[in-house]
Amino acid sequence: MKFELPKLEYSYDALEPHIDAETVEIHYAKHHQIYLNNFQAVVDKYPELADMTAEEILTNLEQINIDDADWIKLKNMGGGFVNHNIYWSNLGPNKEIDENLVQKINTEFGSLEKFKEQFTSLATTLFGSGWVWLVEEPNGKLNIYQLPNQDSPLTLGHKPILALDVWEHAYYIKYQNKRADYINAWWNTVTLI
Ligand code: MN
Repeated sequence: MKFELPKLEYSYDALEPHIDAETVEIHYAKHHQIYLNNFQAVVDKYPELADMTAEEILTNLEQINIDDADWIKLKNMGGGFVNHNIYWSNLGPNKEIDENLVQKINTEFGSLEKFKEQFTSLATTLFGSGWVWLVEEPNGKLNIYQLPNQDSPLTLGHKPILALDVWEHAYYIKYQNKRADYINAWWNTVTLI
C-alpha cells in the first residue's frame, strides 16, 4: 500500500494564536512526513504487509513476525504516521462539536470540565516524549491515559478519539519549556468537544 499524508483541512496559520503557523508547518510537512516515509520504507520490504492499512498493521502489531529492528521501526514510524493523522483531524479553527461524545464524557467523567482537568493533568505530568489519549475501549467505555513515544492505542485494542501530542516538537518554537501553556492553548483548537 502507498500511504499518503492526509491533506490538512486548514491553512498553517489557521490555529493561530494558539498553535503558531511555523510549528504547524514543520510538524506536518517535516515531522509527520518523515514518520510516513520511514514507515513506508519498512512496509515496502515485506510483501505480507502490502495489503494492510496502517491501522491494521498497528492493531495486529504483536502478530507481525519480521526482523526485530524492522518491527521496532514499524511500531514507531507507523505509530508516528497514524497518531499525527488523528492529531491534525482533531484540530481546526472552528468548533464541530460531537454532541454524543460530549454527553458520554459528561456521563463517564462527571462533567466536561472534570474530563479536561484529568486529561490536562496527564499531559502536564507525562515524563519524556509521548501522547495523551481519549479512547473507547472494546466494552464501549471511555478512558484517558498516557502512552510513551509513538505507541498507538490501536495496539491495545482501543479506538482513538482524541490525541494530544506532547513531544517538544509540537510546541517548542512558541512555548519553549512552558508545556502547560501549550496544553491550555491546544484545547482552544480542538473541534469535537
Ligand atoms: Mn508530533
